[in-house]
Amino acid sequence: MDQSRIRNFSIIAHIDHGKSTLADRILQLTDTVADRDMREQLLDSMDLERERGITIKAQAVRVAWKGHQLNLIDTPGHVDFTYEVSRSLQACEGAVLVVDAAQGIEAQTLANAYLAIENELEIVPVVNKIDLPSADPDGAAVEVANLLGGDPDDVVRISAKTGVNVDQVLDAIVERIPPPAGDRDAPPRALIFDSSYDQYRGVIAFVRVVDGRFETGAALRAMALGTEFDAEELGFMSPSRVPVQALEAGEVGYVITGLKDVSALRVGDTLTTRKGVAANEPVPGYKDVKPMVFAGLFPTDSDDYPELRDALERLKLNDAALFYEPETSQALGFGFRCGFLGLLHMEIVRERLEREFDLDLLVTAPNVAYRVERRNGETVEVHNPADMPRELERVEEPYIKASVIVPKDHVGAVMELCNERRGRFDHMEYLSEERVLLAYELPLGEIVLDFYDQLKSRTRGYASFDYDMAGFREGNLSRVDILVGGEQVDALSLITHRDFAYERGRLLVERLKEEIPRQMFDVPIQAAIGARVIARETVKARRKDVLAKCYGGDISRKRKLLEKQKKGKKRMKQVGGVEVPQEAFLAVLNLD
Ligand code: GDP
Ligand code: MG
Repeated sequence: MDQSRIRNFSIIAHIDHGKSTLADRILQLTDTVADRDMREQLLDSMDLERERGITIKAQAVRVAWKGHQLNLIDTPGHVDFTYEVSRSLQACEGAVLVVDAAQGIEAQTLANAYLAIENELEIVPVVNKIDLPSADPDGAAVEVANLLGGDPDDVVRISAKTGVNVDQVLDAIVERIPPPAGDRDAPPRALIFDSSYDQYRGVIAFVRVVDGRFETGAALRAMALGTEFDAEELGFMSPSRVPVQALEAGEVGYVITGLKDVSALRVGDTLTTRKGVAANEPVPGYKDVKPMVFAGLFPTDSDDYPELRDALERLKLNDAALFYEPETSQALGFGFRCGFLGLLHMEIVRERLEREFDLDLLVTAPNVAYRVERRNGETVEVHNPADMPRELERVEEPYIKASVIVPKDHVGAVMELCNERRGRFDHMEYLSEERVLLAYELPLGEIVLDFYDQLKSRTRGYASFDYDMAGFREGNLSRVDILVGGEQVDALSLITHRDFAYERGRLLVERLKEEIPRQMFDVPIQAAIGARVIARETVKARRKDVLAKCYGGDISRKRKLLEKQKKGKKRMKQVGGVEVPQEAFLAVLNLD
């Protein structure tokens, strides 16, 4: 296809503003999918995505519109996936920014718009859901025009649900977004922006060809890792795979590599040729994202350790942000310390491991990364509270710049929450007469403890929230250890600000008392800072044996009862002589 007739774009939006629905309508309107094959949110292919109504993986689809080739790359909208959004944006020249006409601009609208601006994309603003009775298309259009600088009349007003004016979005994409600028005669270069694994065909790379031309069968090399392979098949998604002979500069498509080793290819790497003139310079890659939230993942059944390791390796292929390293816990045995971009990312990885790989996992409470300066002057990064040295010189913790958008009546509640969480007020701005943007700096460690849930409940669901990392800062932090039955449980240790240490230690011990079932003996639960015990509770021994009722009764009933107990135990771990359930390891998330 003539390069001047190609447009590469993403759809960006705050969650639930209608990206996926708009993508569906575009597929229908361009006859990419026949009406009878249409099902809702076609691009959200992962089960988990459809159920949760969120988009996790970027997906690229080619459609035809009035003699043009349009490559649509769907992006995730959630705060945890800013990384995936940037990835997809690098493969584009433009972005369609969707704003719900009844909601107006929200925190992730801003975050996504800023990312698009940073990537120098042409933004096509769209106000969606104009069919809703509560819609205020003019109000939303003014907000968007203020944000991007522009005329509210240039904002396209649509209903992705009914399809009204969706054709105008496609026309605007063709008119306003520039064609790709690559050099077709230069040595071939293609940026890998996503990848997946096919059981029969191996690793499949999704690429944006930046320069030159790639042919089926060509001998290729991934520049950063040096991996060599032959392109078994080239093609594009529409929405399933359509093979082609060649992909040229400006085009988006896939490369079937035949590689069976998932770690042989990395998202962000550049493909070039092994024959003829190869490129010297890779495409400027993505910023390496650093996971900031960590948790331990342990198989409930320790025999599943090798399966867990293989599953993590597989997931890592199309989730470059996922980090993992082996961890040995005295309490929980062999597992992995995993790093995530945020809490939703953590939950999704966990659910995918359980569903797609059929693993039963025990997850410890999340914590952030700390930078610790030891007495000898050496600095180490600590990912696990149990590894935090007790003798510290200086500890630094990660901070974020948070934006909260909220109706003005809830400003007080948001400020109160941010203050409780050691937040520093930065500034406040009226987006309209009704809605306010609050900017705060907060320690990330306070966010991973149920901040988002608290924010939602204290503003009755009205607040939207997004954040950027703001670097490490010194903190007056303290390590609190938990002892169950006199034994320290490494997986329950936490790091907290010194001012909160007593309070959180006490609350955690109280919560653990509720979570740990009664045993045959008294179980003391203690919180300690160093050797000093700061709180103590006791789980009293249970008086009656569950089986007592069955004594003398029939044996099959007894067996059934035992089996039921065994099932209930699935998510328990034996710690010392005590059965500790999964909930106990997450108790710290719920201390208010
Ligand atoms: P995403 O999170 O941005 O991908 O949003 P979705 O496309 O999943 O849409 C979120 C919800 O809004 C779904 O229930 C859609 O059916 C609904 N929705 C999307 N577009 C429209 C629209 O134009 N009008 C109405 N009334 N509902 C819409
Ligand atoms: Mg979606």
